[in-house]
Amino acid sequence: MTPERWALVRAAVERARKSRWYARTLAATRLDEPADFARLPFTRKADVTEASPFELLAVPPAHAWHYHESSGTTGKPVSTWCGLAELTRMASTIVDAVPELGADQAMLLNRFPSFAPVHFLMEEVLRRTGRCHIAAGSMSWDVPFGRALEFMRQLPVSVLATLPFEMVLLREAGRELGIDVVRECRSLKAVLLGGAVLPPAFKRWIADAWQVRVVEIYGSNETMLLAIGCPEGGLHLATDLFEHEVLDPAAMTPVPVGSPGVLTITSLVHEVMPLVRYVTGDLVEMSPTPCACGRSTPTIRVLGRATEMIEMRGRVITPADLVDACYEFVASVGARVFFIVILKRGLEVLVETTAEKPATTALEEVRLANRLGVPVTVQWLPDGDVFDRTALFRTPKIYKPGQVSDWRGEGRKTITVMEALLEWPKFGLGTLGGIVKREIKNARRRKKLAATDRG
Ligand SMILES: [Zn+2]
Repeated sequence: MTPERWALVRAAVERARKSRWYARTLAATRLDEPADFARLPFTRKADVTEASPFELLAVPPAHAWHYHESSGTTGKPVSTWCGLAELTRMASTIVDAVPELGADQAMLLNRFPSFAPVHFLMEEVLRRTGRCHIAAGSMSWDVPFGRALEFMRQLPVSVLATLPFEMVLLREAGRELGIDVVRECRSLKAVLLGGAVLPPAFKRWIADAWQVRVVEIYGSNETMLLAIGCPEGGLHLATDLFEHEVLDPAAMTPVPVGSPGVLTITSLVHEVMPLVRYVTGDLVEMSPTPCACGRSTPTIRVLGRATEMIEMRGRVITPADLVDACYEFVASVGARVFFIVILKRGLEVLVETTAEKPATTALEEVRLANRLGVPVTVQWLPDGDVFDRTALFRTPKIYKPGQVSDWRGEGRKTITVMEALLEWPKFGLGTLGGIVKREIKNARRRKKLAATDRG
């Protein structure tokens, strides 16, 4: 650690002590020399949950610029607070890394859910570049998939920010509506994807399917921005925002560069909810070689949550490996949508195909199983069995809450508050029949899978 860096770390830990949590947990600790840092206690996700809503807050609540909540595994909400100054710092890091966001004609369709801090980080990015921001958070009924596609068709949207898998859903929704996304969303130049693993084969799949540049953004609600992709495809750690450690998940001691370890961070610039040695729970691997882009910050590969590693038959498969192998597989057989079920006996991959089972896939199936090193069964299913695209358009319509309904004209004739608020889609007999048929099929398939996985 350079003397300048050490000064930053010390100042950051001092700031953290302003919160009730760190005032207590760091009370008996010293920070006289860099070696002391590695003796500071860790902060874990469970601590953040326990400390919610106020214990980790280092400023009065009203001085935080944003408050967010997510539901924890225990059901208790996990609180995260963020300041405007730190949000601005993070936004600058993104502006520097993604030139498309500062382009003269930049227009961002922000599909990150509006209850997630990253949505507001993206908004701040556009505030800095002075370009157009479209707030259209996914996972809500306000802007369903069809409407998001319409935005991209009608407006010169040049960047889309969203969860990686949404790129698959949007493309399939387009197919259902008869929209060729490459031809009709022609302004789209880049997609900024985060919130889930994005291994190379998945990245390639999205880049090919959409003909865009794919940029990865990595972080979490608690830490916000941790790393951002560069034009060369490297995922650079935002070392100006955090001090990082990559630790062995069991011993919690540093692993050599290039080996997987849990990313643990200490906020350097965050003043509202600073974290000290926060164990993100994500397994990452630092690259031993510098990135081709010339930036000096280290690059990482995110392998997935340490708790979501798949241990099977003496092998450990990371979520990133699993997704990567499956996208490589579907790309090699020309399929588009799949679903993975992890069973005791191995993996079952349900793959949708428009044709009958493709004739020449045996080799690819063997290659997939060999790569993952566990038994893999592939089920070839007809179009719509893995992903009922029509369901994307059966979301309810939501209106402004009200208590007056004028029945005299052509408008909706409602008689309760809930009716006025929500309009459920009307199901014809055909749709209902389709849903019932699908339910029966799925129940049978589920029962069969469970039956073959006893013992
Ligand atoms: Zn780079």
